[in-house]
Amino acid sequence: MKQPRSNPAAEAFRVEAAPASVDAGLAAVGSLPGVGPALVERLARIGIVQLQDLWFHLPLRYEDRTRLTPIAELSIGASAQVLARVDGVERGFRFRPQLRVALVDDSRATLTLRFFHFQRSQAEQFVPGARVLCFGDVRMGQHGAEIVHPQYRILRGDAPADLGERLTSIYPSTEGITPLRMAGIVERALARLPEAAALELLPPALLKELGMASLRESLLTAHRPPPDADVAALLAGTHPAQRRLAFEELLAHHLGLKRLRAQVRSRRAPALSGSGELRTRLRTSLPFALTAAQSRVATEVEHDLAQSTPMLRLVQGDVGSGKTVVAALAALAAAESGWQTALVAPTELLAEQHWRTLGAWMRPLGIEPVWLSGKVQGRARERARGAVAAGAPIVIGTHALIQQGIEFQRLGLAIIDEQHRFGVHQRLTLSEKGREGVVPHQLVLTATPIPRTLAMAAYADLDVSVIDELPPGRTPVQTVAIANSRRAEIIERIRAACAQGRQAYWVCTLIEESEQLEAQAAEVAFAELSTALPELRIGLVHGRLKAKEKQAAMEAFKAGETRLLVATTVIEVGVDVPEASLMVIENVERLGLAQLHQLRGRVGRGSEASTCVLLYQPPLSAQARARLAVMRETNDGFRIAEKDLELRGPGEVLGTRQTGAVEFRVADLVRDAALLPLVHRIGEHLSAQDAEAARRIVARWVGSAVHYAGA
Ligand code: ADP
Ligand code: MG
Repeated sequence: MKQPRSNPAAEAFRVEAAPASVDAGLAAVGSLPGVGPALVERLARIGIVQLQDLWFHLPLRYEDRTRLTPIAELSIGASAQVLARVDGVERGFRFRPQLRVALVDDSRATLTLRFFHFQRSQAEQFVPGARVLCFGDVRMGQHGAEIVHPQYRILRGDAPADLGERLTSIYPSTEGITPLRMAGIVERALARLPEAAALELLPPALLKELGMASLRESLLTAHRPPPDADVAALLAGTHPAQRRLAFEELLAHHLGLKRLRAQVRSRRAPALSGSGELRTRLRTSLPFALTAAQSRVATEVEHDLAQSTPMLRLVQGDVGSGKTVVAALAALAAAESGWQTALVAPTELLAEQHWRTLGAWMRPLGIEPVWLSGKVQGRARERARGAVAAGAPIVIGTHALIQQGIEFQRLGLAIIDEQHRFGVHQRLTLSEKGREGVVPHQLVLTATPIPRTLAMAAYADLDVSVIDELPPGRTPVQTVAIANSRRAEIIERIRAACAQGRQAYWVCTLIEESEQLEAQAAEVAFAELSTALPELRIGLVHGRLKAKEKQAAMEAFKAGETRLLVATTVIEVGVDVPEASLMVIENVERLGLAQLHQLRGRVGRGSEASTCVLLYQPPLSAQARARLAVMRETNDGFRIAEKDLELRGPGEVLGTRQTGAVEFRVADLVRDAALLPLVHRIGEHLSAQDAEAARRIVARWVGSAVHYAGA
């Protein structure tokens, strides 16, 4: 379902009105007949505020009710419309009350309609011989073809069936608005669609060159496909009308991000060149040498920082590739020049870990990082705020840093770790923390290796650096998948490993995004393992513990005092204990590849050979089996990301969680990926040739939604 979008591209265009010629689309939905205040409010909750939001609210799918299918020709698994006579009716009460209606038609075959909730009056309509027009998904029942809960109508006497003339559009709807009601509202909005020329923002010559129909025609086709339309293409979202709309939407996002980037880049940032002294001291004090990839990326970042144009750079690097040290070097470059750095992480645990790591690295250089999370309250918070206002060189924390009320003396650099957990807006809010008329440089770190085309679209406002090499001496993690029935064996393995001085994680996962249930599962596993392994000291971390408890558990594990750590997915991002070399993950059949890869990235960080045990609950679906096979075969985050995309499709892989904010009405980054080069080419052309058209395209597609999201 579409939610109110929060979209980066619109940032630059927030409160602008389009000129009179396309004003029709800006009218409030409340101006439509029959759309009163209550409905307006409900529509607003799904991001529909203006008429044009309804124009772009395309059908979810289409049903073909223009044709009748003879029962003998029904295919199982497809939807169909049938006109037939009632042959028999049976009311059963096995397990639960149900109504079965047998229909026959001229093809002499039988179709069963099956109802589980029905009223007596409904059952009484189906008298033998009555003519029934019905529509639904055909499945294989006990007695041949059947439709459960069909949509149907009883026809009087010999009255004609009165089939639809075009495909029936089924609209996505929520907030208690039924698809049928939504269809009516959209219909009324479409009646106010202006003439083609008044609606069009793309230059006619361009449309001609691209062989694309007008926006008006494309919208009408997508909403009310004619009977001869290519249904398969429509359902796949690849019909020329849909591609035309996707193209304009992608173009709008692209132009918006370009504009946003240009706006940030038109402002000034402090040139952070520094003496290099702190950086050299850090490098020489590290117990390792940077990899070639780390050095290259660090140089790219340092080069950007030395400019007085704000840096907008994304550093992509697989789990364990060593992004933290690159961030630390950037922060030191700022400190050398007398400017502050804010390092923001998505979870308390990760932020805290950064604070410890950077503290250990920087204390010898005379820098004490300030810790500021939402849980730092009262006097401690006042102290931290005071230090930040007084110019503390490095501040580390969670999104509390982004929230209001924290004033930096001179913020020169904002580092955002694990970007996929943040929206672009939050990133921009940090930009606003700049003082003295300058904006800070931005460095974004992510371990989500998204394929290149997608990265371009999702992070179009950022330059990209890739750390494409792991530190040497890592032995690839060996991964095995084992059924939960062999749990006892695994516990024995942990006993043996810990007796040899190794350390292990036991990770509890749940599909529901409920921290509470996951925490419960971890408590249960903790109790089970404590009973089974009485000789071991076992730690426990989950999201419901107090910050202090979490911290103590992590520290004890890091120090090797506890050999086994039972944890939830709170350890998914960033946690770094190089000595841990065994990981057991429960309920893996429910996890996506990206998440499994992130979790597994917590082991294989030291020189010891590591093992990851994926505990699953049989039976496995074909998809789950395929996922586990990928995990066994490769440790390469980029390959895993590509497989993930293949197996799950872009919707989930590039969900809001991963991209931070980009959500489309029509476009689909993977399905429409082939359009992206064209989008880039036309985007260049349009922003150079017709800035006004460019501005209006962005305002149309992403403007009102963002305005509404309160961004
Ligand atoms: P990520 O990219 O996942 O954030 P980290 O920055 O947490 O990775 O680094 C993972 C581990 O590798 C840490 O223990 C870090 O100290 C270590 N490390 C980083 N760079 C190197 C290197 N060049 N050689 C050896 N170990 C390194
Ligand atoms: Mg990290």
